[in-house]
Amino acid sequence: MDSKIMTALGDRLLTLGPQPATDGPYKHFKLTRDADGVAWLLFDRAETSANTLSSDVMEEFDAALAAIETERPAGLVIRSAKPSGFIAGADVNEFRGATDPEVVEARIRAAHAVVDHLEALKLPTVAVIHGFCLGGGLEVALACQARIAIDRARFGFPEVMLGLHPGLGGTARFTALVNPTQSMALMLTGRTIDARRAKSLGLVDAVTQERHVLGAVRDALFGRLKRAKPGLLTRAANIGSVRGLLAKRMRSEATKAAPREHYPAPYALIDLWETHGGSKAAMLKAEQASFAKLMVTPTAQNLIRVFFLREQMKKAAGSGNTVKHVHIVGAGAMGGDIAGWCAGQGLRVSLADMKAEPIAGAVKRAAELYGKIIRKPTDVRDALDRLIPDMGGEGVRNADLIIEAVPEKLELKQKIYAGLEPRMKPGAILATNTSSIPLQDLRTTLTRPERLVGLHFFNPVSRLQLVEVVSHDGNDAQVQKEALAFVGAIDRLPLAVKSSPGFLVNRALTPYMLEAMVMLDEKIDQRLIDAAAEQFGMPMGPIELADQVGLDICLDVGNMLRTKFGDLLPPTPAWLREKVAKGELGRKTGKGFYTWKDGKAEKAQPPETGPRVTDQMIDRLVLPISNVCVAALREGIVDDPDAVDGAMIFGTGYAPFRGGPLNYARTRGVENIVSTLRALAERFGERFAPDPGWDNFK
Ligand code: NAD
Repeated sequence: MDSKIMTALGDRLLTLGPQPATDGPYKHFKLTRDADGVAWLLFDRAETSANTLSSDVMEEFDAALAAIETERPAGLVIRSAKPSGFIAGADVNEFRGATDPEVVEARIRAAHAVVDHLEALKLPTVAVIHGFCLGGGLEVALACQARIAIDRARFGFPEVMLGLHPGLGGTARFTALVNPTQSMALMLTGRTIDARRAKSLGLVDAVTQERHVLGAVRDALFGRLKRAKPGLLTRAANIGSVRGLLAKRMRSEATKAAPREHYPAPYALIDLWETHGGSKAAMLKAEQASFAKLMVTPTAQNLIRVFFLREQMKKAAGSGNTVKHVHIVGAGAMGGDIAGWCAGQGLRVSLADMKAEPIAGAVKRAAELYGKIIRKPTDVRDALDRLIPDMGGEGVRNADLIIEAVPEKLELKQKIYAGLEPRMKPGAILATNTSSIPLQDLRTTLTRPERLVGLHFFNPVSRLQLVEVVSHDGNDAQVQKEALAFVGAIDRLPLAVKSSPGFLVNRALTPYMLEAMVMLDEKIDQRLIDAAAEQFGMPMGPIELADQVGLDICLDVGNMLRTKFGDLLPPTPAWLREKVAKGELGRKTGKGFYTWKDGKAEKAQPPETGPRVTDQMIDRLVLPISNVCVAALREGIVDDPDAVDGAMIFGTGYAPFRGGPLNYARTRGVENIVSTLRALAERFGERFAPDPGWDNFK
């Protein structure tokens, strides 16, 4: 069969139909015709590894569709020529900085016209989907008459994570095809699903393997494939009165996840469907205006920025990781989880401790984690095989990287290094997970201090993506580079910081937690303090966070930072020491400020009557974070303001829709921040004094 031409792309073979002798008239597409008279439109966006939809791509797509209309083939197959997948979504870069909803709407209208053009073609159309099929990509697929998924394909609408909802007809076409209780849930959460789930929902008509694609395509084009059709329930759910009821339920779920003022997109999507769900044409039109309105909100613009911050931090990691075997000393809360994470990412890990129980605990936690994040049981088994308990510390000799994660005591750490150093390979890196001890102090007893770096992971390791890569003035530059590349290779985001007390993140977060304790001393209800931070958009308030981190750790870090920053920190209340002495350490002992059950704080709502959250309370908690970030930039501890914002978001969950503490300051206005800090300093003390770095901050 001459249409069965297999083209090698990377390590996969994709069935791409006949290949043209020349490149053809398009930059991003190839259009060919097979022996059955079927047109194959292959999407291969120039100069990128993944297909995304930009305006020039859409223009060319339209031209290709016009050519197909003229040529009248027997059918049309749309597929991607990229090994990475079908289409990863719209090119959001084009909408960065958008301020005028009418301009956005005009662009979206033009893109809608192309997708409508595809849907209106008077010939059988089929999308063949492998890999990622997200956002705009899924919307293109939805405009085809049939969809065939290759078994490992993944589908989803991640727009909500960017403060948006689908904007290329997806809201209308998806809810018309798939029961809105399910299709709306997918769009509201941004979750992705695999091919089998897509088939069971009726989003795709068939799931097949690459080698059977030609047969499946012919079945789809020539009427032999039973197409997924909207069922009775789908039609019923789209009836006006039912929509009203369902929308109410969806709204109450959305409120639990995030408030409308901070994250308007889910609510806009629910409104859109509730109002127009019965009529495809009306919903297609209303979607454009709603999408454009969302796109110019600060939330969407900030979340798009955060998306690019992540990309930028990934890039800063660089490539060329040389670490294949990591040896970890200390299998406690951090060392154990770092070990599990690294083995899950494909590295060989030996895990040492002075006791067997922490190692056993770490392996158990790793197995639980893999059960959640790795799909194939054989892959889970392989990951567990890579995690090697090593009471004798034999792994040191072969390790490319050694991470020390023993308790926070200088002498103990130095004693461990004395035992490790003579056994390390010449090129191996020695890293510490210390959260507070300056590397300048740790290195004093080393024979080769140039290969000591800090790799400061955050707790929980599997959830917080940031790792601070800490350098000191005696570092070998190559060691730094390799440490950054290692962090990138284990799918974490690095922030390069110079060794200084608290590095960036703990230094910025400590005033947030200590100020909350000062407020407690002022007899402000702890639930109100937490509510103030949550109202700003923090994932959890400072009191709950202190409990989560451990009050003993808060006390230690506070004391350590005070030695350097003195009165720039809120005072540590005497009762905190007593609480720690009593063993009320927070989550890990079941009691701190809150009582903890099954890993959750038992929190009642703040009292209905009595004092409310005030702007001043919020400012007292959050402005010092921005102030420290500016100070760290001025001192050269960190050098890139964007990475600082990224670090605070990916290391602490700082309100993402605000775009980070520096972006927040920029948006609110530096003058306003400085004058508010001055007023707070007058009222509450010098700790609020604006840092001199604000003078040059842009
Ligand atoms: P932990 O007490 O949970 O674990 C420490 C482990 O080290 C224990 O299992 C202990 O048995 C082992 N250990 C003690 N002495 C040892 C020795 N001589 N040889 C081998 N093993 C030994 O502590 P943790 O919370 O995991 O903290 C470890 C390091 O990570 C500290 O430097 C801490 O500052 C840092 N850190 C902690 C957090 C956090 O949230 N817990 C976050 C970031 C960094």
